[in-house]
Amino acid sequence: MSWDFETDEEFQAELDWIDEFVRTEIEPLDFVVKSPYDLNDPIRAEVIPPLQEKVQARGLWACHLGPELGGLGYGQVKLALMNEILGRARSAPTVFGCQAPDTGNSEILAHFGTDEQKERFLEPLLRNEIVSCYSMTEPQGGADPKVFTTRAELDGDEWVINGEKWFSSNARYSSFLIVMVVTDPDNPPYQQQSMFLVPTDTPGVEIVRNVGLGYETPGVDEGSHAYIRYNDVRVPADNLLGPRGGGFVVAQTRLGGGRIHHAMRTSGRVQRIFDMMCERAISRTTQGELLSKKQMVQEMIADSWIEMEMFRLLVLRTAWRIDKYQDYKRVRKDISAVKVAMPGVYRNIASRALQIHGSLGASWEMPFAKEVIESFHMALADGPTEVHKVQVARRVLDDYVPCDDLFPTMHLPKRQAAAEAQYADVLERHLETQ
Ligand SMILES: Cc1cc2nc3c(=O)[nH]c(=O)nc-3n(C[C@H](O)[C@H](O)[C@H](O)COP(=O)(O)OP(=O)(O)OC[C@H]3O[C@@H](n4cnc5c(N)ncnc54)[C@H](O)[C@@H]3O)c2cc1C
Repeated sequence: MSWDFETDEEFQAELDWIDEFVRTEIEPLDFVVKSPYDLNDPIRAEVIPPLQEKVQARGLWACHLGPELGGLGYGQVKLALMNEILGRARSAPTVFGCQAPDTGNSEILAHFGTDEQKERFLEPLLRNEIVSCYSMTEPQGGADPKVFTTRAELDGDEWVINGEKWFSSNARYSSFLIVMVVTDPDNPPYQQQSMFLVPTDTPGVEIVRNVGLGYETPGVDEGSHAYIRYNDVRVPADNLLGPRGGGFVVAQTRLGGGRIHHAMRTSGRVQRIFDMMCERAISRTTQGELLSKKQMVQEMIADSWIEMEMFRLLVLRTAWRIDKYQDYKRVRKDISAVKVAMPGVYRNIASRALQIHGSLGASWEMPFAKEVIESFHMALADGPTEVHKVQVARRVLDDYVPCDDLFPTMHLPKRQAAAEAQYADVLERHLETQ
């Protein structure tokens, strides 16, 4: 039997290197690079590639990939330990070649892409020479993809796409979009849609506007979640990614990895917020004593640490199960549970950190308000919490059988009677001697 919470020395040395590198060289980038996805930003072009070269030289580039795609085949546990360090800085995943949504997009290209598609889209994506976008959600509804209406119709050897997509992150920086589109409306609901590779500069791809999150200012910040209209967008028949009618299957392949990787990074992000909270608690004095001496502050610290550690262990155990079974379907319950836990822990700890910092915490001079909104990002992207809770409950219940009696199996009088029957001779003997 093996049951171990330790990291081997060799890998710990890598983690130590990553930790130092992220603190000293990548964290400062978040103050000078507007978006690590904007390949046309001259500042980004000057500062990020040399750091990527250092990561490549160290052999830590794109560790989410298996050896067949040039990665190390680290597996999810090692990736989790790495990603929780990378989660500290916005640019870190890009510097290490494992940024969302390119990771998920490369996963489905590797899985379903033809040789030509891999050469044209996957290879430059893996080298971070281009950026990609996943364009699935529609303005009228994202949690239920069955309501999508964006259509593609075959015209000769081309597909013609019409419709609207919403919150297509990074479309403005992308070279291509992976778009989920209705191709077969007469099929059963889960076989009506297909996935397409659409170069972003294809005529008819219209970014109506780039939407920002609540902490950003319209007209000042660059929103990065595109509202896109597809107006008679023509792509060759070869741009179908995966089987016709197989859009849901392709989407699921993508989302399993994406969700757990978000959770790994969130673990690191939450740790950073927690560190800020603790530093403040032992630094700030009120009514003649440190905040850390107040019981209600202690409660916030204790609750936060416990939630953070429980979450981290759930993420690591899920990563371990993915490595063990090599089958996302088998760990869907675990991944959904992680997805549900993630925003709650993130939001709780960011809110407490904000509160402990007082007015400073609520101001734009600390990151907490932004972190609270980002926690909702984690609660919505890749499916809302409610939908994942339903998944967890369904899969948990799959392991149970109904009781066909009026009273439950564990009804105490029933168990009492059964136990008395099982030990009838013993009870009888003792009764005689009493
Ligand atoms: C920061 C961010 C980035 C994103 N990036 C992308 C991207 O790159 N590409 C992309 O395609 N999409 C992206 N999304 C969209 C995301 O996938 C959707 O927001 C999500 O699927 C929910 O869809 P919706 O926003 O339309 O909400 P709706 O479908 O309108 O749902 C709204 C709310 O209703 C409730 N609800 C929904 N379904 C149920 C249910 N079954 N049971 C109980 N309650 C329910 C939940 O509270 C849910 O939050 C992103 C979202 C965010 C916030």
